[in-house]
Amino acid sequence: MTQFTDLGLAEPILRALSDEGYETPTPIQCEVIPAMIEGRDVLGIAQTGTGKTAAFTLPILNRLHTENLRTQPKTCSALILSPTRELSAQILENVRAYGRHMRVTSTLVVGGVKPGPQIRALSKGVDVLVATPGRLLDLMESGAVRLNQTSTLILDEADQMLDLGFFPAIRKIVGFLPKKRQTAFLSATMPKPIRALAQEMLDDPKQVSVAPESRPIERIEQSVVLLPKESKKDLLLELMSDRAVERAIVFSRTKHGADKINRHLVDYGLKSAAIHGNKSQAQRIKALDGFKTGAVKILVATDIAARGIDVDNVSHVVNHDLPNIPEAYVHRIGRTARAGKSGVAVSMCEPGEYEYLRDIERLTGLDIERVYLGDEDKFLAEAKKATPAASQKKQQQRPARKKPFTADSRPQGQRQGGGNRGGSGPSGGGQSGGGAKRPRRRNRSGARTPA
Ligand code: AMP
Repeated sequence: MTQFTDLGLAEPILRALSDEGYETPTPIQCEVIPAMIEGRDVLGIAQTGTGKTAAFTLPILNRLHTENLRTQPKTCSALILSPTRELSAQILENVRAYGRHMRVTSTLVVGGVKPGPQIRALSKGVDVLVATPGRLLDLMESGAVRLNQTSTLILDEADQMLDLGFFPAIRKIVGFLPKKRQTAFLSATMPKPIRALAQEMLDDPKQVSVAPESRPIERIEQSVVLLPKESKKDLLLELMSDRAVERAIVFSRTKHGADKINRHLVDYGLKSAAIHGNKSQAQRIKALDGFKTGAVKILVATDIAARGIDVDNVSHVVNHDLPNIPEAYVHRIGRTARAGKSGVAVSMCEPGEYEYLRDIERLTGLDIERVYLGDEDKFLAEAKKATPAASQKKQQQRPARKKPFTADSRPQGQRQGGGNRGGSGPSGGGQSGGGAKRPRRRNRSGARTPA
């Protein structure tokens, strides 16, 4: 088995890895570290949890250790771009941990905080700069930093950067870097626009693709509760009051929604905090730290704020709203069942979100266990009404599902029978996270299963 000592890393780095308690390199580290030490570009398809941060950070530190060059004022030797402040802060933490036995300077440039301290930190020049694209561009334009001495560029979570509309900023930033440089480009997925940008930026890259060590999705008990919109609040309280909930993340599609949900939980006496893009950096750090230490039991988050958050022991994920981008469902539920543990993911689906549920099932190939709170036929009729015309058309054009249609998944017009399959409203027996009391439910083959 490959050891860290086989990868060509310098002694102070090996010592820091031993301090961290890392015994062996992960698969992505085994491939990326030697390639980057050789000076090659890298194109990596990898998600959070694979050890990708160390995979690109360690070779940077190794180069800084061997070259031992002085960084000039207002420049940086290596630049790491990431989509969110949280992820950038986490990467910086790693740079500092792995570089603790070396003399490496590093700093963070992200939005949402005053630029003054960042400008001062850059004035002498830094070895490693971790940044989000927007603020970096602002500081470049004001002359606080130049990238003409930057010899390594890392782009982390490129697909998320695309979703956030950062590509024009990235192209601009890359235009200021020297042509002769080393670039590593990492993304969890590789749709066409990402591949195109990677091709523009990379020179004969080593391609690496790794799946997370074990696909967590298999260890997650997933269910979806189909319910009227107005029942969501009560069900959430019921779920979050369950003793089985150790630490939970509740997802909201919007920032405003996240605040409302959080207020509702706090008013009820639950230890909850919200994290999203409209919160100040200090508020976000406080919420996240509280969640990590256990002072906060429930974190209410938007997709963007939660991306890249690496917290162990999240027992439950609740989708208060279903995401309109099906891939986000996989990212969300992947916050639980980390580090070999199992987890519970409960999603709430109101009639207007039914199409999102079908998109998620199509993407994942899963038939997520369904529980109807209230009248099933009424729900499905409302869902049909709520489905936009364009989406109905899209549905007709879709290729047949791999699995045969079942009673619940057939287009509503073709379903037979009816009546109230769902049982009671939330007060009459909502579903609890650990699988406590549940309303009568149907599995996707149409058979009823005991409550
Ligand atoms: P990442 O994919 O970079 O978000 O890393 C996921 C987690 O794995 C982080 O908590 C790292 O500290 C940890 N980690 C990274 N490399 C190793 C390793 N070789 N052995 C054990 N843990 C690691």
